[in-house]
Amino acid sequence: MAQHFLLSTASRTLSLRQIYKGGEEAAYKTFCEMRWPETNGEAVCPRCSHGETYSITTRRKFKCKNCHHQFSVTSGTIFASRKMDFVDLLAAICILVNASKGVSMVQLSRDLDCQYKTAFVLAHKLREAMAQEVQTGEVLEGHVEIDGAYFGGHVRPENRKEDRKDRRLKINQTGKRRVVIAMRERVGRTLPVVAKDEGEGVALANENVCRMATMSADEASHWDLLHVGYQVDRVNHSECYSDHGKHTNMAESYFSRLRRMVDGQHHGVSPHYLHQYANHAAWLEDNRRSDNGTLARIVVSNAMGAGVSRSWKGYWQRAA
Ligand SMILES: [Zn+2]
Repeated sequence: MAQHFLLSTASRTLSLRQIYKGGEEAAYKTFCEMRWPETNGEAVCPRCSHGETYSITTRRKFKCKNCHHQFSVTSGTIFASRKMDFVDLLAAICILVNASKGVSMVQLSRDLDCQYKTAFVLAHKLREAMAQEVQTGEVLEGHVEIDGAYFGGHVRPENRKEDRKDRRLKINQTGKRRVVIAMRERVGRTLPVVAKDEGEGVALANENVCRMATMSADEASHWDLLHVGYQVDRVNHSECYSDHGKHTNMAESYFSRLRRMVDGQHHGVSPHYLHQYANHAAWLEDNRRSDNGTLARIVVSNAMGAGVSRSWKGYWQRAA
């Protein structure tokens, strides 16, 4: 039997040892090269795009020779106003891309020896960087599977039987339960969207799936409406999981990863952040055959290309 990709040497091209051995200067250089790939890491003014700068090396800042604007390698990016060393940032990225089912924020804060809050916000910023490749706005094509899975809103049953409530009734629920609807190309991308009801998936398919595509769905009756716009393969899961190529197994394997991430690492997720975890799992799923050095480079380069995070910049200062 062929060796599994993740067991091969080719899947390991980056390690924490390598990052820390290289040190702060090498990590800083990596960020410069990712921010300004077209000039090979030479600073370019973000305000006027002028290529010549004075560098204030002691503070790792640049001053534009044309408009005198002062900036750093992280100005205007997800990492703006960062306090962490570049080498620790790179290590955080390495840890996060190595964790195929995500990593809890307590664990990340222990590994990096930083506050829980720092790890929490940093990881969410990195998820935003990953999401750029997941939520691209492009329509899905070819053969697209659609399915939904519910997350959150668990109600713990009371200790005594006589105190327990019927948790199936809406009145006894928390209202925090959400469904992640996944649309996944058999060859290509995974697109997750958070909704309140699985039936919303039909409208999402109409928005995000090409009219020429073939779709696969399970027996749930709300998917009947898909037949109006698409050729749809249906599979009845009470009878079998795959019927001569009719299946939603790729959507299921995405949910398997997300389920393990939420149950095993995060233990519970608020409906506000579920979309971030859903994007994170989709990114891992779509990049499962890439080596970890490539994965880290993708995250850094997306993070350097993305603007300042509106959701996460100063998150804890606001919350306080
Ligand atoms: Zn300038």
